[in-house]
Amino acid sequence: MSIQMMKAAEQKLQQYFGYPTFRPGQAAIIERLFAQQDTLGIMPTGGGKSVCYQVPALLFSGLTIVISPLISLMKDQVDGLNEMGIKATFLNSTLTGEEVVDRMRGLRRGDFRLLYLAPERLEMDSFVRFLGELPLSLVAIDEAHCMSQWGHDFRPSYLSIRSWLQSLPQKPAVLALTATATVDVQQDLMQHLDIAGENTIVTGFGRSNLKLSVRKGIDKAKALEQFLQQRRNEAGIIYASTRKEVEHLYERLSRAGYGVGRYHGGLGEQERTEAQEAFLLDQKLVMVATNAFGMGIDKSNVRYVVHYNLPKNIEAYYQEAGRAGRDGLESECVLYFSPQDTRTQTYFIDQSELAEERKKAEFHKLQQMVTYCHTEQCLQQYILQYFGDQIGDACGQCSNCLDTGEAVDVTREAQMVLSCVKRMRERFGKAIVAQVLGGSSNQKVLEFGLTKLPTYGILKGMTLKDIGLFIDFLIAEQYLKPTDSAYPTLELTAKSVPILKGEEQVFRKIQVQVEQAEPLDDVFEALRECRRALAEENKLPPYMIFSDKTLREMSAYIPLS
Ligand code: ADP
Ligand code: MG
Ligand code: ZN
Repeated sequence: MSIQMMKAAEQKLQQYFGYPTFRPGQAAIIERLFAQQDTLGIMPTGGGKSVCYQVPALLFSGLTIVISPLISLMKDQVDGLNEMGIKATFLNSTLTGEEVVDRMRGLRRGDFRLLYLAPERLEMDSFVRFLGELPLSLVAIDEAHCMSQWGHDFRPSYLSIRSWLQSLPQKPAVLALTATATVDVQQDLMQHLDIAGENTIVTGFGRSNLKLSVRKGIDKAKALEQFLQQRRNEAGIIYASTRKEVEHLYERLSRAGYGVGRYHGGLGEQERTEAQEAFLLDQKLVMVATNAFGMGIDKSNVRYVVHYNLPKNIEAYYQEAGRAGRDGLESECVLYFSPQDTRTQTYFIDQSELAEERKKAEFHKLQQMVTYCHTEQCLQQYILQYFGDQIGDACGQCSNCLDTGEAVDVTREAQMVLSCVKRMRERFGKAIVAQVLGGSSNQKVLEFGLTKLPTYGILKGMTLKDIGLFIDFLIAEQYLKPTDSAYPTLELTAKSVPILKGEEQVFRKIQVQVEQAEPLDDVFEALRECRRALAEENKLPPYMIFSDKTLREMSAYIPLS
C-alpha cells in the first residue's frame, strides 16, 4: 500500500514538478503523512519543504490547507502552482470581500487542491466554521517555528492553530515545517503539536555549495566595496542589523554606481514590494536589507549573502545566509565581525520585553554566534554541530579550512590572560580584563585598584584590540566562559585549569600577510627563532610577546646585509 502510494507520489513529482526523484527527507515525510502520522519536518532553507505538502495534496481526496505567515508571497506561490496545473488558491487580507466570497464558493465546490491561509484567519469564528464544513485531508504549517516562543520569530497568531486543529470534527494529517532546528524549538513544536520523535525528520543542514567565511579586524566599508567590485554582475543580499545602517549602505552603494534596492520595516508596503520585485527580476542585483527581508523568498541565483553586522544567533544567520545558492551553484556567505556589533545585539536583547529567563537564553545564543566568528574549527562543521546534525569531514572551503595561518604556541599568553581573570576573581568583563592586561590606566581600572595586580600591564606589547581578539579566541576555544547577561563577566572553565598548571598547550593560528619580499622572510624566520629560544629558556620578557604579524612587520625595519 505504502509502496504504491510512494510510487504515485514520485510520479506526481515528475509529472507536475519535473524532478526525477525526491530529495532526502521529502520521501520520509510524505510516507508518514500517507500513514496519517502527524509529522515535523526540519530542513534548511531551500531544502525543498514545499514539495512535502504539495505532492500529498495531489493524492489526498480532501483539501490541503497551508498556513503561512508570508502574505506577500502567497499570490506568487499560488500562481506558480496554477501554472504547473495544480489547482490552488489563497485567502488573505489583500483580497476584496467579493473575491473572498467567490473563492469560498469555489472551495465548497471542491475546485481546489490547496488553500493558503494566514494564521490570523483562524482567529475569526465565522471563518473557522466555514473551514469545518470542508473535507480537510492535510494541514501544513509552514515556518512552524513561529509557533514557538523559543523561535526567533514568534507570532502569537500561530498559537491559534493548535486549538483550531483540536476543534475539527475530523482530524486531518498535520505537517509542521521549519528551517529552525535548535533543540528547544524542535521540542517545543513536538510537544505543542503532539508529534512523536520517530515522526520528526531532520535533514541535511550541510550546504556543500556554500563557502562560509568570517572576516574580522578589517575596515568593513572597504572590504565590502572590494567584495562587490568582484561581483558586479551577480545577485546578492547584504544584511545589516538596523534600518539606519541599511539606509547608510544603500546611499553609499547607490552613489558608487551599484544597482541597489533596500528593504526594511520602516519603508511603506508598496516600496518594499517594489524593491522585492526588482530584486527577484534581476533589475536590481544588490539588496541591502534588515532581517525583515527574505523569509520565503525563492530566488535561485543569489550568489552571495554578506552580513555587514553580526546576526543575533546562528539560526538567524544560517537562515539568512542560506538564501544564497538555492540553485545548488557555488555561492559565498561572508560575515563581517566587529566587537561593536556584539554590543548592539546585546543591547537589543537587553532592551527587549523578554522575561529574564529568555534573555539569558538569548545572550547564550548570541555568545555562540560570536564564537562562530572566533573559532578555528571548520565553519560548516560548527554550524552542523550547533543544529545537532551529523558532522562529516571538514568542508575544505570555509575561511577556517582555507586559513593558511601557522599554528603558533600561545600557551604563555593564554596563561597570562587566564591568571589575570583569576586574580580579578572572575568578577569583570572582557573590556576591563583587556585593559588590565594592556596596562591601561582607564578610570575604572584605577577605581578598582587593579593596577596593583601582578598581571597589570603584562601584555603591554599588544594593542587593546589584539588583546580583545585574543580573549575572544580563548572564549571560542572554551578556555574562558562569559556569563549569559548584558554585562558578561569572564569565568574560567574546566579547560583552563590544565593550561594554568602548564599541563597543556594552546595553539592559535596567526595570519601572516605574505606581501614582503623574499629575503625578509629570512629575517622574519630568524626573529621567530630568537623568540622560540627565549621562550624555551623562560627568558621571554612580556614585551617580547609578539605575534607573527608583529615580527614580520619588525623584520621590514631590519637592514639586510
Ligand atoms: P524551502 O521551503 O525548504 O526553503 P522550497 O520548497 O522553496 O524550499 O524549495 C527550494 C527549491 O528546491 C525550489 O526551487 C524547488 O523547486 C526545489 N526542489 C524541491 N524539491 C526538489 C527535488 N525533489 N528535486 C529537485 N529540486 C527540488
Ligand atoms: Mg518554504
Ligand atoms: Zn570548513
